[in-house]
Amino acid sequence: MPTYEFRCRKCGEEFEEFTTMSGKSKVKCPKCRSSSICQIFTTVQIKGAKGGASCSTCSSSSCSTCGTHTQDKH
Ligand SMILES: [Zn+2]
Repeated sequence: MPTYEFRCRKCGEEFEEFTTMSGKSKVKCPKCRSSSICQIFTTVQIKGAKGGASCSTCSSSSCSTCGTHTQDKH
């Protein structure tokens, strides 16, 4: 089963839970037992962006330089 990360909307607790797609709605905060939680989507691509993430509007692999997107550089 995959691990999902959640954050409690009530107390802000972040936790991981082994669950299925259908079981996600049954997940509750381990701290305050609130079912008002939201799933955290881990941003692996953004965290390890150095040379990894490609720009959606150009083929450059260094979005730090094309973030300004001057017209004549691409
Ligand atoms: Zn909570």
